[in-house]
Amino acid sequence: MRNAKAHSDLCDESHSRINVYQKGKRTLSLRPLSDVSPGRWITSGFKTLLGWIIFRSGLYRLAWRGKAVIVVFHRVRDSFRNDPITVSSGQFEQFVRFFARHFDVIPLTELLARVESSRPMNRSLAITFDDGYWGNATIAAPILERYHVPACFFIATRYIGSNHVPVWDKKNGIETKWMTWDQVRDLRARGFEIGSHTDSHVDLGKVSPTTARREIRAGMMRLEEELGESSGLFAYPFGQRNNMSEENQSLLRDTGLRCSLSAHGGTVRPGDDPFRLKRVNISTWYSSPYQFGFELVTRRLEHHEDAVAGT
Ligand SMILES: [Zn+2]
Repeated sequence: MRNAKAHSDLCDESHSRINVYQKGKRTLSLRPLSDVSPGRWITSGFKTLLGWIIFRSGLYRLAWRGKAVIVVFHRVRDSFRNDPITVSSGQFEQFVRFFARHFDVIPLTELLARVESSRPMNRSLAITFDDGYWGNATIAAPILERYHVPACFFIATRYIGSNHVPVWDKKNGIETKWMTWDQVRDLRARGFEIGSHTDSHVDLGKVSPTTARREIRAGMMRLEEELGESSGLFAYPFGQRNNMSEENQSLLRDTGLRCSLSAHGGTVRPGDDPFRLKRVNISTWYSSPYQFGFELVTRRLEHHEDAVAGT
């Protein structure tokens, strides 16, 4: 796995931040965690070593109490190594092994129930995926099953079975491959949860209220048609603060959804608003799962809500 500096074809770096562009417009500003005091001298390798010590010794159980974390992946595929939203099968398995070993990996709906009932959630972790990439079904799901851990897949319904190439892949020259509806139904039949991610992955922070309503409802209805049920789970496309709005929060509640998830960093606590659940984006920004663990336990993620990119 590589440092974000390697993402030169998609990102540029200025003023100690990494800016991700879509159609020439800056959409995400990524601040390398190592640039932020204290401890900016600590390299990712040293963080990995510290993370290994903290986790393998069990110290993290003392340092990280009463909170849960929801992680989000995007594409799992053994190519496009410079793409910040792609992790390889090997990298993905490393993370899953780390989660299974050190966390209580639970379904997102169970984590939501614990949030709503203010039940203890020490070391609870839920795994999610956004968008609906092909490798979710062909690479990620078999690895998740091998480690007996659950996950939720958030689907942009219009992408499924299509040849659509989103702007972030077009920019990077990536050949996009989406799951088919048969694969989505199969994931559900195997016990995975399926959530909504709008119909065509619009930026809900920019579109009109009419379009937002249509996109949210169309995404939910298509899932119901294809799966015969609705989970009530929703994740914001892009998921940064400016992609959400108060109007949309109300709209989501009125539409009968149970929760909505961002894609920016932070942990979850009992009693949090189910419509403002934070996630931590897992990308090649982390040199290893133990670096992620270090950032998590030392609460650095709490202060870096734009730390890694999402779509
Ligand atoms: Zn997305």
